[in-house]
Amino acid sequence: MEPLVTVPTLPGPPIRIPPQLEGLRRMAYNLWWAWHADARRLFARVDPDAWTRHHSPVSALLSSVDWVPLLADPRFMAEYDDLLRRFDAYLAGGSDHWFARKHGHELPGPIAYFCAEYGLHESIGIYSGGLGVLAGDHTKTASDMAIPFVGVGLLYRNGYFRQTIDADGHQEHAYPDYDPATLPILPVADATGGPLRVPVELPGRTVSVAVWRAQVGRTPVLLLDTDVPDNSEADRPITHILYVRGREMRLHQELVLGVGGVRALRALGISPVVWHLNEGHSAFLLAERARELVAAGGRVDDAFAAVKNDSVFTIHTPVSAGNERFDADLVRRVAGPLFDGDGRPGTGGVPISTILDLGLGVEGDRGQFDMTSFSLRLTKGSNAVSRLHARTANATWHPIIDEPILAVTNGVHAPSWVGVPMRELYERYLDADLDDLDGRTNGSRFWDKVGRLPDKELWEAHIRQKRDLTHFARGRLLRQLARHGEAPSVLADLETELEPEILTIGFARRFATYKRASLIFRDMDRLALLIDDPDRPVQFIFAGKAHPADRPGQQVIQDIFGRSRGDRLRGRVFILEDYDMRIARYLVQGVDVWMNTPRRPLEASGTSGMKAAQNGVLNLSVLDGWWDEGWTGDNGWAIGGRETDPDEGAQDYADALDLYRLLETEVVPRYYERDANGVPRAWLQLVRSAIASTIWRFSTTRMLHEYVERLYLPAAGVPLPESSTGGAPHPVTEAG
Ligand SMILES: *Cc1c(COP(=O)(O)O)cnc(C)c1O
Repeated sequence: MEPLVTVPTLPGPPIRIPPQLEGLRRMAYNLWWAWHADARRLFARVDPDAWTRHHSPVSALLSSVDWVPLLADPRFMAEYDDLLRRFDAYLAGGSDHWFARKHGHELPGPIAYFCAEYGLHESIGIYSGGLGVLAGDHTKTASDMAIPFVGVGLLYRNGYFRQTIDADGHQEHAYPDYDPATLPILPVADATGGPLRVPVELPGRTVSVAVWRAQVGRTPVLLLDTDVPDNSEADRPITHILYVRGREMRLHQELVLGVGGVRALRALGISPVVWHLNEGHSAFLLAERARELVAAGGRVDDAFAAVKNDSVFTIHTPVSAGNERFDADLVRRVAGPLFDGDGRPGTGGVPISTILDLGLGVEGDRGQFDMTSFSLRLTKGSNAVSRLHARTANATWHPIIDEPILAVTNGVHAPSWVGVPMRELYERYLDADLDDLDGRTNGSRFWDKVGRLPDKELWEAHIRQKRDLTHFARGRLLRQLARHGEAPSVLADLETELEPEILTIGFARRFATYKRASLIFRDMDRLALLIDDPDRPVQFIFAGKAHPADRPGQQVIQDIFGRSRGDRLRGRVFILEDYDMRIARYLVQGVDVWMNTPRRPLEASGTSGMKAAQNGVLNLSVLDGWWDEGWTGDNGWAIGGRETDPDEGAQDYADALDLYRLLETEVVPRYYERDANGVPRAWLQLVRSAIASTIWRFSTTRMLHEYVERLYLPAAGVPLPESSTGGAPHPVTEAG
């Protein structure tokens, strides 16, 4: 089967590859390897040094590879053949995809999906956190499910910042400098075979936007880039930095994403049947599409109605203050000329005053343009990212919406996040294929069979993943502490610290204050008793970045760092620098417990806890976001209840007490209760429930079923299938 949406590209940088291994080129330029660990291992063997430095297949091929020993190595050649065969089979498959099977006809398409960030792999740092990782997982799953789909985003050559923490605990920021020639992306070609450029008018000049293609399995993602020689020195950096701080630069960025994205699709002859805005950063695509319709002779009202009819929007924050806003004057000055032509009504454009009216926030502040309100008013369907979030979001935005915001709870792409030892176990005992959650696997309801996972092997698989984490974390901490100038004896201690036998609790997320990363440190005496227990010790691994502008968040990092180096907690509390998808993989696969302590209801969903649970790691979390619906009573622990105290201090205190109580009376005793072989049987009962209750229900496969049936089909004008229930959660969501 042909790829569902094809985007022509120009050749990449010259890479010399022996003809027998030519398939490596195709594989390197398809992010399929991002969810196939064995494909990454193959590229690592091509050039181990280059791999260690970049973790990037294209970089490995670009280094001066010594091909002779590889060609002479029968094992390498056999692995290559096997992978290439699987890769080609993946691309060719999909003709019997779930939609056609279920509904008897092809899913209309394509769906255009816009997002400001994509977390596809750690080597392409065009994401900052959960939103990007969700977009990456959504894209990968669209490919797995053969959904006609095209992503649109920005190519940030300086990405998001890389974090180091200095010896005083201060977060330091450094921006990488990506050379697109080393990334798994190719320049997109226009109809004449030259590099595609699309224009975006800004005051007094026209910015020229280059387009790159990241191919994610069967799904292309278009990445827009203003760093081209045609642009002035002032405009080339528009797309350099993700979530750039300057407001005007940020507005330019979002105009390039929304307007440039529509124009890139048009230039490629791609005609989406549905436009999906994942978060409001891309909202100007709605204005651009209205402008097109008016330019073609339509009335402004009709144009906006038409745009609304086939657009859908996913909201990601519970409260209005968390959303993107611009000064209305700035929007009028910067975006006005672009949308209303020469500024006079009736000259074919969309009056900027109309755009500003549509972007009036719920607070009614006419001085602000609110991207979320604009998106909500101009989309036919919208959804929040968990059930609890839908309640909060509807309460916040009900004044401006005519249809309720649906709940489509987030999920994760299991093949990207489940460790190989666990995965092999699922395949062996449950007849499960994580690459094909929809087909045979779903039909066999493998989550009902987790009872078949034998205690001993389940525990061994977990311990293998935990050892990998220990090894990785020791290496990272050694580099960090050596850089701080720690004494050799301190560095030597690391060899015996982070022992896999010790109950290990992970906490990794953006350090925003509402996430309350410091909650566990509230009663230092009680914590010290826990971690120093000679028979049943506990250790913690923290990781996470704070936004460069978030001083209080950086303060939390400093506080935790200080404690981790202080006398009382040293050797039991660690903080890893530069949290990214790689660290996330090690942590969610290798810790025993995943702790999350947000202030309810401020966490819209969260997804790292889903990744952990799918690896058999137990969540210990406040009933917020996904955990409010994910907790079953026997698959982990709930901190606190569903009541929230308006007095934040009192709530924090109560939650801290409950956290200590759970650790002391539930988590620690259960973990250390072993049978004669050292296996924690009672613990493993919870592990099985964690796997069973999340592997389908919090998968992006289940999530995409819902997006298709509850949002995409209605927006595409296709009547809802009989078997679908419209507003209610799709029956498959109740499985598991
Ligand atoms: C999964 C992931 C996230 C999102 O996790 P939360 O649960 O929202 O904290 C953020 N960053 C990275 C690197 C991830 O892999």
